[in-house]
Amino acid sequence: MAKKSEEKKLQEKLCRKKESAWKDTGDKGKKAIFAFAEGYMDFLGRSKTERPAARNIITMLKKAGFKDINSAKTLKTGDKVYLDQKGKSVICAVIGKNEKRMNLLGAHIDSPRLDLKPNPVFEDKGLAMLKTHYYGGIKKYHWTNVELALHGVIHTKSGKKIEFALGEKGDDPKFIVSDLLPHLAKKQMEKTGSEIIEGEQLNVYVGNIPIKGEDIKDSVKLNVLKSLNKEYGIIEEDFSFAELNFVPAGIPSDIGFDRSMIAGYGHDDKACSYAGLKAIIDMKQPEVTAAVYFSDKEEIGSIGNTGAYSFMLMDFAELLIANLSLKITTGEMLRNSKAISADVSAAINPSFPEVHEESNAALIGHGVVVEKYTGYGGKYSANDASAEYMSEIRALLDKNKIIYQTGEIGKIDSGGGGTIALYLSRYGMDTVDIGPAVLGMHSPREVLSKVDLYETYRLYKAFLENK
Ligand code: MN
Ligand code: MN
Repeated sequence: MAKKSEEKKLQEKLCRKKESAWKDTGDKGKKAIFAFAEGYMDFLGRSKTERPAARNIITMLKKAGFKDINSAKTLKTGDKVYLDQKGKSVICAVIGKNEKRMNLLGAHIDSPRLDLKPNPVFEDKGLAMLKTHYYGGIKKYHWTNVELALHGVIHTKSGKKIEFALGEKGDDPKFIVSDLLPHLAKKQMEKTGSEIIEGEQLNVYVGNIPIKGEDIKDSVKLNVLKSLNKEYGIIEEDFSFAELNFVPAGIPSDIGFDRSMIAGYGHDDKACSYAGLKAIIDMKQPEVTAAVYFSDKEEIGSIGNTGAYSFMLMDFAELLIANLSLKITTGEMLRNSKAISADVSAAINPSFPEVHEESNAALIGHGVVVEKYTGYGGKYSANDASAEYMSEIRALLDKNKIIYQTGEIGKIDSGGGGTIALYLSRYGMDTVDIGPAVLGMHSPREVLSKVDLYETYRLYKAFLENK
């Protein structure tokens, strides 16, 4: 091999490198990465909305020895607890030797989807359909021609609770919204992308057979209601008081000849949720209290009684302080805590490089992404991590040989997005956004690299175990 020139050596010493995270994985590393991905894919396929996600998280926590904090009168170092908020968001913690502050991961377990309107059932042109109102930021045309499953909860007038996950099992029926055929789409194709499919066109097909007997109006709709009533005891009015969501049906898949990637619904933000969950389950006894927050409603601004803007985190801190008989205020505990806002970032889609500024954009398969700030338009609505905290995070990344990249979501003023970072940092705790980069984010089928997911898990675990 030729000797390295002085210039080459200097370049290696001074310049930032960006290398594939797969490069030095080796057979053993690859095996660990693929095994981790397998567990994740199972979780992802069963955790499409916040309700099943919270339930699956609590099941895994309980198995690992975590107990409901409301049943614990006193706590001590080493105890594992969780708080369940309405079956839609969860916070868990392992009490550290230092009980006075937390290393906190904050993820979210909701994903964009189609929610039913309060009065959804109607019939038109021989089809019974359900009207939806989309949840979160979507490109509406993505949601046509995709097989959908119905999730959620109806409480009937007589007080029966019915939980749906219809369209997920082998022989279940599925549901769909059809787009217009290309033959007749001349006018449609002249519209702008946001108008090609409009919100009011996201009507889901649910039936086509008219009721037998007298020829009445809306006989297909009536037949659908008849079968729903027979099967579940539901009447039309029950929909107005329910919570129902259409999500893409089916389970995640390996992508690529090398099976390096995963396509699935809801990587944002079940990837970080699962990585955080596994991190707190697998970690050794932490020095300071380790906590993971699985929040809801992030996709619509983190509001509501299960979103990160609620007082749930404060409530949890108060419970810890009381049960540990600590002589500190809630503010003190939260202010002295450190947080990672555990959420996904955007990877450059090679077919659309123009929306990114390449030296500050993430590449898929190049490690976990550290984002000092998120937000949009001059960092509006961003949490902006301090140089001091960024240095701490850097030391942690280096010490644990985590493969990472730094940057921001896209080109200045080309859009942007937020996370729960600003709702964590408002308590005074240091916060930074870190997670894997995703392709096709907020689409019914997002893509993620297995190695990025694994590096995310490794970093989250190191963070929770950190002093
Ligand atoms: Mn997210
Ligand atoms: Mn999102």
